[in-house]
Amino acid sequence: MISVSEAIRQISVLGATGSIGCSTLDVIGRHPDRFSVYALSANNRVDALVEQCRVYQPAYAVIADEDYADNLSDKLAAASPNTTLLTGPSGLEQIASDPNVDVVMAAIVGAAGLDSTMAAVHAGKTVLLANKEALVMAGALFMQAVEISGATVLPIDSEHNAIFQCLPEVVQNGGKIGSHGIRKIILTASGGPFRDWSLADMRSVTPEQACAHPNWSMGRKISVDSATLMNKGLELIEACRLFTVGPEQIEIVIHPQSVVHSMVDYDDGSVLAQMGNPDMRTPIAYGLAWPQRIDSGVTALDLVTTGALEFEAPDIQRFPSLRLARSAAEAGGGASAVLNAANEEAVASFLRGDIPFTGIAELVESVLEAAPAAEPLTLNDVKEVDGLARDLAREFMIQKNCRWG
Ligand code: NDP
Repeated sequence: MISVSEAIRQISVLGATGSIGCSTLDVIGRHPDRFSVYALSANNRVDALVEQCRVYQPAYAVIADEDYADNLSDKLAAASPNTTLLTGPSGLEQIASDPNVDVVMAAIVGAAGLDSTMAAVHAGKTVLLANKEALVMAGALFMQAVEISGATVLPIDSEHNAIFQCLPEVVQNGGKIGSHGIRKIILTASGGPFRDWSLADMRSVTPEQACAHPNWSMGRKISVDSATLMNKGLELIEACRLFTVGPEQIEIVIHPQSVVHSMVDYDDGSVLAQMGNPDMRTPIAYGLAWPQRIDSGVTALDLVTTGALEFEAPDIQRFPSLRLARSAAEAGGGASAVLNAANEEAVASFLRGDIPFTGIAELVESVLEAAPAAEPLTLNDVKEVDGLARDLAREFMIQKNCRWG
């Protein structure tokens, strides 16, 4: 019989100081009998990391940007004297693959999370995957590594978590989706803050407006992705990879209330949906406790107060990112890595105020047309494609800025 203390799961949180990281710690903190924080990481927000270490007293803290290590060192020693400080990419990979760790929350934003997420996969961990960009970039290689290592990947993106919850148990446990009467997957999207805006009005959107999501509180990059609907495009690619389905089996539906988090449509006409208030602690708690369920701190959904649930088709004229992501998914090869890299560059430029909101999709489209997209066979190939796409994005930005400026 397993004693309670033996059953406590040791967790590394990559990207602990971000929106997903903080929600993860909130859920973990509610269940000290089940979970213990083994390691935490941040990029450069030293004070936030120190405060988390003071509360959770982890074995390791990692600061990814080595320039901040000196600043962190003394503060960490005072707040959490038994915590060992690690730095840089090697520190991230160490806490992702440490033999003492059971579960890795992969919540670094963007391509920066690729190596540490892959390290967790190679080490056969239970990987709670928030860092969708890693899967979008590395696609087939990522899933091959899961097969080889026996890692368990549980999706944290609310949509994929919802789909996972609506799948038969045998598929949840690694069975293929093919023979289980599944007709299609329906990914819901809130439509973001500009759902009803004209293209002309979207040209003058500011970073602050784009980051003010109507339903979810998230980091800045994913908030902009939600506003362009590129987030839904990345999620389409993520769903193809996670559930081994083609893009034609995925329908995207706008659902402004963000109560139905996604659905699975079965051959017999049944459509299973997962619903709940829009709060990431629900999918995080599900991932942490799967196959059990635990309190997440999220208030119960009150359908009467919520009122009408609306659904509509997305408008790909006003939100071209959806079209671009779908065609990257259909093209296969390295197209998804190109899409992701170009989008990361474009979003960063938009947040700096260098390009207009509508320039994001324009730039991604130009890079997709210009970049070679052969299937990357190794992680280094993926990084090469990523680097090339970023170079192209920067070049196009200089050319286009004459017009945008
Ligand atoms: P945030 O921007 O809020 O947090 C990002 C985290 O990653 C922070 O801890 C940040 O550290 C760290 N980080 C940033 N850059 C680097 C780097 N170069 N190297 C190492 N660490 C780095 O992002 P979110 O929490 O919103 O999103 C995290 C991931 O989860 C993304 O992939 C996103 O798509 C996905 N996701 C997020 C959802 C949400 O509701 N927020 C929903 C579904 C998926 P620091 O604080 O020091 O900058």
